[in-house]
Amino acid sequence: MRVVPIAAESLGTRSMATFVETRDVRILIDPGVALGPSRYRLPPHRLELARLAEHWDAIKARAEEAEVLCVTHYHYDHHNPEEPEVYRDREVLLKHPAEKINRSQKKRARDFLKLLEGIPASVEYADGREFAFGETVVRFSQPVCHGADSRLGYVTEVSIRDGESCLVHTSDVEGPVTRDQTGFILEEDPDVLYLDGPMTYMLGYRFSRGSLQEAISNLEEIMEKTRVGTVITDHHLLRDLAWRERLGPVFEAAEKRGVKICTAAEFLGQENELLEARRRELYASDDALGAGDP
Ligand SMILES: [Zn+2]
Ligand SMILES: [Zn+2]
Repeated sequence: MRVVPIAAESLGTRSMATFVETRDVRILIDPGVALGPSRYRLPPHRLELARLAEHWDAIKARAEEAEVLCVTHYHYDHHNPEEPEVYRDREVLLKHPAEKINRSQKKRARDFLKLLEGIPASVEYADGREFAFGETVVRFSQPVCHGADSRLGYVTEVSIRDGESCLVHTSDVEGPVTRDQTGFILEEDPDVLYLDGPMTYMLGYRFSRGSLQEAISNLEEIMEKTRVGTVITDHHLLRDLAWRERLGPVFEAAEKRGVKICTAAEFLGQENELLEARRRELYASDDALGAGDP
């Protein structure tokens, strides 16, 4: 199985878009990418806008290669209602648009389904279901909270298993914080876990220290009880420059067990480029350059 993160915070945008290729099928999870509208009270820097365009082009190219497109929930960093043509003739597996969903995503889902009318080869609501493509089985969790509670709605985690290995892509769990988010990972027993790590850039106000502790102990349990060899952690966690320190105990446990923890960029063999987390520096270096002009 080949796992290719396409866009992510460690690559400079907000996304968990991932291309997966098995012997049987090519699958694109969450074909969307976005930017933080305001960070340090600053709008996206031009480098972020340029990266956003690059990443969207890369997602579209992968969508052309894929037979199956999955959408785990209806936030705009996970799907893009502006270009429904991406779904043309594809098999589309969607988070249920009306059950276990909050009000804002329910509206977005309804609008999105209208836009999709007549475009994909098929549309299925995937929550809690599994789909076979040859020997590859794609399994979706029951809806789990988007983070520690359901204020931001629900997401489906995705497991892809071929004859050789298993990937779990957690979507926006911001942790994992809850028992059911963690339970799906334990059940699937993945070799590779692509995790939305804890939302520590909002630690102490939108994300509690208690939730961070839960995430740490859940990750320790996952490393203890599953075969996982690689944990890719990105998305909410990589909006925090101190992400490594936040997960200190997890890195220690991983080292003892021989588990590799990396970002999406590192998984691809690239340098981390946390453009949003460095937005203040990006603007400051523009100012420094400007000051040198005649
Ligand atoms: Zn989300
Ligand atoms: Zn997201």
